[in-house]
Amino acid sequence: MKPFTHLNLSEAMLSNLENLKYEMMTPIQELSIPPILKGRDLLAQAKTGSGKTAAFGIGLLENLDISRNRIQILILCPTRELSEQVAGEIRRIARFRPNIKVLNITGGMPMNKQELSLKHQAHIVVGTPGRILKLLNRESLVLDEMKAFILDEGDRMLDMGFMDEIRSIFEFLPAQRQTLCFSATFPKEIRELGKTILKNPMEITLEAFHNPDVIEQRFYEVSSGDKIAAVLGIMKGFKPESSLIFCNTKDSCRQVGSRLNGFGLHALTLHGDLEQNERTEVLIRFANGSSGILVATDVAARGLDIDSLGAVINFDLPFETETYVHRIGRTGRAGKEGLAFSLIRPKEKFRLELINDHLKSDYIAVVPGPEFIRSDINKGSELQSEMRPEMITLSINGGRKNKISAGDLLGALTVKDGIDGEDVGRIDRLDTVTFVAVKRSSKNRAVKVLENGTIKGRRFKVMIRDS
Ligand code: ADP
Ligand code: MG
Repeated sequence: MKPFTHLNLSEAMLSNLENLKYEMMTPIQELSIPPILKGRDLLAQAKTGSGKTAAFGIGLLENLDISRNRIQILILCPTRELSEQVAGEIRRIARFRPNIKVLNITGGMPMNKQELSLKHQAHIVVGTPGRILKLLNRESLVLDEMKAFILDEGDRMLDMGFMDEIRSIFEFLPAQRQTLCFSATFPKEIRELGKTILKNPMEITLEAFHNPDVIEQRFYEVSSGDKIAAVLGIMKGFKPESSLIFCNTKDSCRQVGSRLNGFGLHALTLHGDLEQNERTEVLIRFANGSSGILVATDVAARGLDIDSLGAVINFDLPFETETYVHRIGRTGRAGKEGLAFSLIRPKEKFRLELINDHLKSDYIAVVPGPEFIRSDINKGSELQSEMRPEMITLSINGGRKNKISAGDLLGALTVKDGIDGEDVGRIDRLDTVTFVAVKRSSKNRAVKVLENGTIKGRRFKVMIRDS
């Protein structure tokens, strides 16, 4: 990693970064800031938490014409929450000079206030596609002097069904501009969109796996019969927000999943015997916060792209050291340590030696005490309520093919006597089914309004996906 002083940045920018305690560039920053400063278009892929916001923020703000109070940068984010986060980060970076105005313009907020703010102009607008498009159509948002456009979290935009809105927004952008597209993964649709909106883009892709040095690794020596209890002990002791539990076989995977569910932990399993649509549903429910535990085999987990895994647990130790490194590399984020736990049977201790040789480390396997092996956790226990996921997934039997948009579904949920917009999470739209995460506490109301209401004039069947 290199320090920011390696870049050709203004003194003001460097000293602000120092204040923010940004000393070393993250890999995506090191690779993308130089071409951004040169005005190149970019198609960049890097894991969530890798510092993408600062990458484009630093690169673009350095060239902003502050004396010109017109919108020069437009940043699109898929959700209100992400938009707020990005606006916050951009404001922090913008402190390098006084009076840079950043507006955050998202749905769910009063539009008249947003229009008033836009009348007073700003340098940068961050927002969500639906509301931005609306304001463009109303001509309250004018982008004649826009120089840079950023599509953030492209793959999530796609998941949420925003591609139509985004294409419409493009009609309003000046042809002469710099365009940056960031995404955690590059599905086919994003590549294709990239081809139409980017000019001679530079492509940056980063390995999505973390270095073992930033991962806290713990090894527990337990007998086979105590493994489930040890997993419960890990849950109790560390409360990881999300965990990926690796098993060596499909059978082991199934068993672990069903035993954990016996404790009411809402675990999901992913293995080679699942149909494609079952696999898709599992991934959606894990990613949208409806389950905090995914039990998987190595093969099934291949290509899995899940942000911010709190912990990786090796229920079975892998046979190969490389597999171990690969598995644990899925936890951890920029600036945050990952956690990796491994359960080792007494007979397998030689494997830890191989891992130590490979990592040049000297981990030892701890024999956990009785307070850690939580065989005493019963149904309805404290752990069960502590581990209850915040969200739950509902599905309706209509999707892309029925022209249902994320906005339609959000609208149907938040009607009068419906649920609060804050209680709606990720919406994943497939061809003939749409999944929506809602807060568990709002489940009944959400089901009721969806069952009683219509979307695009049609009634849909609602299902709760929580088994
Ligand atoms: P991404 O968009 O890639 O998911 P973010 O831009 O949200 O990631 O950054 C994740 C976190 O890392 C933020 O809290 C941000 O303030 C912090 N961060 C970004 N760059 C650096 C850096 N160079 N040094 C330290 N922290 C950083
Ligand atoms: Mg981001």
